[in-house]
Amino acid sequence: MNDDFFGFDGIDEHVIRAERNKARQLRRSRWWQRKTSSGICYYCGKKVGIRALTMDHIIPLSRGGRSTRDNLVPCCKSCNTRKKSALPVEWEEYMEELSKRSSETTLEKKGSSG
Ligand SMILES: [Zn+2]
Repeated sequence: MNDDFFGFDGIDEHVIRAERNKARQLRRSRWWQRKTSSGICYYCGKKVGIRALTMDHIIPLSRGGRSTRDNLVPCCKSCNTRKKSALPVEWEEYMEELSKRSSETTLEKKGSSG
């Protein structure tokens, strides 16, 4: 067995650089202006204002994400910082918590056992 052929953990630097450029271009686009016009953070749903929003890759480039419209969202600084400092697992837990909180008002809680 030779695992050396499968170097999936490393991502080409030039790919990341190209994706960053793409993101920068999208940031100047009408699409992004519309996306940020509400001033609302994609993650926590807080209204922080257009100028406080940053562009965030839902799936980070380092994890194989790309600068596509599906993967780019407006994000407030506190979420951005939180995402950077949190482990992927911790971040997912945080997202789950947020979605639970927002769905609690519309969904009835069901007692589940098991
Ligand atoms: Zn936020």
